[in-house]
Amino acid sequence: MVLGSINLDLTSYLDRWPEIGETVTAASTALGLGGKGANQAVAVARLGGSVAMLGAVGRDSFGADVSARLRGEGVDLSLREVEGETTGMAFIDVGPDGGNIIRLSTGSNAHLTAEFVEAHAAVLSGAKVLLLQNEVPLAASLRAAQIARAAGAMVVMDPAPAPVPFWPREVLEAFDVITPNAQEAHLILGDLPQTLDQAEAAARALCDLGPRGAIVTMGGDGVAWCLNGDSGQRPAPRVAAIDTVAAGDCFNGAFASAIARGMTVAEAIRFAGAAGALATTRRGASEAAPTRAEVEAFLR
Ligand code: ADP
Repeated sequence: MVLGSINLDLTSYLDRWPEIGETVTAASTALGLGGKGANQAVAVARLGGSVAMLGAVGRDSFGADVSARLRGEGVDLSLREVEGETTGMAFIDVGPDGGNIIRLSTGSNAHLTAEFVEAHAAVLSGAKVLLLQNEVPLAASLRAAQIARAAGAMVVMDPAPAPVPFWPREVLEAFDVITPNAQEAHLILGDLPQTLDQAEAAARALCDLGPRGAIVTMGGDGVAWCLNGDSGQRPAPRVAAIDTVAAGDCFNGAFASAIARGMTVAEAIRFAGAAGALATTRRGASEAAPTRAEVEAFLR
């Protein structure tokens, strides 16, 4: 189950970064489905999991476009259609090295409410894992976390973009696992983890703030985690990354689908690391997610 953001991504691939005030012509441009919630849902669906999603779109052509893309991927979608607001959009520039700069227009995503979540309590109660991110109002996420947890689900929150100031303990205690990347861990804790050892220390420090577990993703370096007092780390598999957009979303979706299939946390992190790595070898956000067969072949 995913509760979260849905965007139309307008991505430009640049041969070089412009200076302030300069115009450069993009080498190519693509329209795609994005938003951390949608990316996570598509990752789960491609990995063979059964996934439902709650989100919000505007009553515009972009809203119809993103809903069709999500349903086309097999996501069981329940949408709030927001009058007088645009569907969420992301303006993404991918540079020559594969790195990216993103400007977000939150739009309809800001209108996902606790009441809308409440009205879909039945589907939330059926979830094994609930995936959340910080691109929709916290009140909606917290209500979903309460309902899903009461029904026995694992609640995974990606605190991205990182809330500043960070959430208090009573909020963090609503989550089983939080999954910041290195930059988000930096904003939350004050220090930028630069090695897997530092990421493991960061994961422990994050657990001290309230959640049961923390997974700190370190891009091409890999991932470190802490859960119920145990901690560990795993280097990323080596791949030729061309576009790191949504690697973390794919990681989260893969982690959830692996947990829902009964893997241990360490196994699920290995599976998710492979899925995240494969996603960086392809362009796009949700479009970059691999299938389960691709991840299993890669791991072999
Ligand atoms: P986010 O997309 O949230 O910034 P990361 O960049 O940390 O998250 O990526 C999430 C996970 O995806 C990493 O922990 C790793 O498993 C995988 N990954 C990301 N970038 C690479 C890369 N360049 N090479 C291999 N794996 C990668």
